[in-house]
Amino acid sequence: MTNPCIICVAITGSLPTKANNPAVPISVSEQVDSTHEAFEAGATIVHAHVRNDDESPSSDPEKFAALKEGIEKHCPGMIIQFSTGGRSGAGQTRGGMLPLSPDMASLSVGSNNFPTRVYENPPDLVDWLASEMLTYSVKPEIEAFDLSHILKAKDMADKGQLVGTPYIQFVMGVKNAMPVDRDVFDYYIHTVRRLFGEDAPWCAAGIGANQLKLNEWAIAAGGHARTGLEDNVRLDRDTLAPSNAALVRRAVEICERNDRSVATWQEARRILGLRLSANASKGRAS
Ligand SMILES: [Zn+2]
Repeated sequence: MTNPCIICVAITGSLPTKANNPAVPISVSEQVDSTHEAFEAGATIVHAHVRNDDESPSSDPEKFAALKEGIEKHCPGMIIQFSTGGRSGAGQTRGGMLPLSPDMASLSVGSNNFPTRVYENPPDLVDWLASEMLTYSVKPEIEAFDLSHILKAKDMADKGQLVGTPYIQFVMGVKNAMPVDRDVFDYYIHTVRRLFGEDAPWCAAGIGANQLKLNEWAIAAGGHARTGLEDNVRLDRDTLAPSNAALVRRAVEICERNDRSVATWQEARRILGLRLSANASKGRAS
C-alpha cells in the first residue's frame, strides 16, 4: 500500500519576525507569494496566521479572507488551514475567521505551558471553537501538545463534536511543553492507532532545530510532516532558511530517502476526507 506524505507548510505563525528572518512573510501579498512557492515545492496544506503591518499577530477576519482568496487563486487545490491558536487569551476572536469556511483549522483541546506563558484553552472555548467548525464544515487539526489532548480528541469525536476522524498533530519541542522524546512519540502513534484505527492519518511538528528531527521521524514512521518558518527559521545552526519553500524542499528530500511519494493536493484531500473540488469555497464532499 502506498502512503503518500502530506507536507504542511506553516508559513508565518504569530511569533517570528523579519528581524529573526527577513523571509518570514508578513503582509497578505507576501504570504500568498510564499505559499505559492511552497506549493510548487510540494506542500499541500498551508497553515496560516495573519499579522498586522507592525508584525504583531492579528485575528482580523478580513485579512484571513484576503489570504484565502489569494491562495485559492494562485494555489488551486491547496488545503487552507487557519490557526485558531495564535491569540491565546483572546477568547472567541480566535475563531472569528471560521465563517469563511477554510478547509481546516487548528484546534487545541487543552491547556499547557509555553515558553513564557500559559497557553490557555479553557473547556468552554474549546467546545465553542469545535461547534463553529461543525457549523462551517471546517475540519479540525488537533494540536496535541500532550498525550491527554489525543484522548480528549477521542472524547470529542465520540460526542459528535468534530468533523470526521480527527487529524492529530503531535507538537514537540515547545519549551515548557512536551519535549522531543522518541518513546513519547512512539506512544503517541500507538495511541492514535488504538483510538482511531490503524490507518488513521497523523502528523508531527517540531520546533526550532527539532523541526528536521520530527520531519525525519514522522516521514519514516508513515506519518505526515509539518515544516515552515512558523516553527523554525533556520536550515542549520549557521544558516537562515531562505524561504518556506526551502524548508518544504528539505522535507521532500526526506520523503525521497524514505521511499515516500509526496502527496498531491488530490491525494491529500482524499487522505483527510476533504472535498476534492479545487475552488469551491463552501461544503465538503464527505
Ligand atoms: Zn500556528
